[in-house]
Amino acid sequence: MKKEAFVTKEQLEEIIKQYPTPFHLYDERGIKRNIKALRDAFSWNEGYKEYFAVKAAPNPFLIELLREYGCGCDCSSYTELMLSEAVGVRGEDIMFSSNDTPAEEFAYAQELGAVINLDDITHIEFLEKTIGCIPETISCRFNPGGLFKISNDIMDNPGDSKYGMTKEQLFEAFDILKKKGAKEFGIHAFLASNTVTNEYYPMLAKILFELAVKLQRKTGVHIKFINLSGGIGIPYTPDQEPNDIRIIGDGVRRVYEEVLIPAGMGDVAIYTELGRFMTGPYGCLVTKAIHEKHTYKDYIGVDACAVNLMRPAMYGAYHHITVAGKEKKACSRKYDVVGSLCENNDKFAIDRMLPEIEKGDILIIHDTGAHGFAMGYNYNGKLKSAELLLREDGSIQLIRRAETPSDYFATFDCFDIGKKLVK
Ligand SMILES: *Cc1c(COP(=O)(O)O)cnc(C)c1O
Repeated sequence: MKKEAFVTKEQLEEIIKQYPTPFHLYDERGIKRNIKALRDAFSWNEGYKEYFAVKAAPNPFLIELLREYGCGCDCSSYTELMLSEAVGVRGEDIMFSSNDTPAEEFAYAQELGAVINLDDITHIEFLEKTIGCIPETISCRFNPGGLFKISNDIMDNPGDSKYGMTKEQLFEAFDILKKKGAKEFGIHAFLASNTVTNEYYPMLAKILFELAVKLQRKTGVHIKFINLSGGIGIPYTPDQEPNDIRIIGDGVRRVYEEVLIPAGMGDVAIYTELGRFMTGPYGCLVTKAIHEKHTYKDYIGVDACAVNLMRPAMYGAYHHITVAGKEKKACSRKYDVVGSLCENNDKFAIDRMLPEIEKGDILIIHDTGAHGFAMGYNYNGKLKSAELLLREDGSIQLIRRAETPSDYFATFDCFDIGKKLVK
């Protein structure tokens, strides 16, 4: 599929007058259109709820936008819980899906009334010791082990992942939790990340639904919800076909009718914890070409770097690049598009065919709306960028200002900025 940016060069030139590059820009219209499609796709399930994976884009303005459409929050840390509370998402609108969880995070999740999703059987005792009880509603994370395949394609390797309980542990955990007073149960699994196929969710649903029937029969508990978690991907490369959420929702419905309804479990709610799918394509990193260098290769140096978007450096991930205003020009030049970190993996693109780039050109790095800004860091003393929201009416809202040196130095109590060490 041809990848097109959601902003034009003219719009960007206007924005840059007020907010200098680099910055992340989000598209309100795209986010809204997508959430509506997701809700429609699962409207057959009465209890359906999406818990937005806060870690993908931990910005209160974006969380609020999703909340207007009934989304809750999927949190996995103390500050993510704080963020949810701040935007008014509390109680069972929070799914706390953490792992290796510190005691104070369980305590805070309980205080907010969040649904706690246990990653391990030993966390039952740990939780009970920490909060003094077992909540009435509780969830457990399942890991089937082995390889997760669709047809003959290996999608991911659950057997090598640190998350979740084995099947035996899950049965035992439900027994223990029931004895300790839990009344409503949930099952959760995340078996493959960034799947660009309509088959992942229905396949995962089949595994979890069949397991749920066995669990309910064997342990006699009431299963209230099944959480399909995240993992629906987005097409980062132009040759990938985007997922069709209607087909995915319909696929899950069919498995539901085949497995849960005949078992008398037609009241089970379906939950999702999508992150990438919710905001990924509706964000981009806008940066300017500031240098051009020709040595053994041709380089374009931009004013963003891996601290603004880590995925290419970390995973070798592809992010499509559009040179604003040159959308129709032939991609006749081969460039490495690089940032300024003293790290040779600080490259947004390697050997990428692009139109001829001149200094001052605006580059749009696509699909940075999830796990983009959020993975940022401060290596080389680089500062995090601003985040902007392109509203439906075309206006721009600053939803997070750019960091300044004061932010960077804020954790040194003994440092008087621009002056000297005050000991
Ligand atoms: C990261 C994560 C998600 C979201 O994953 P996406 O790939 O962004 O959809 C959901 N649930 C849990 C527990 C996660 O760790």
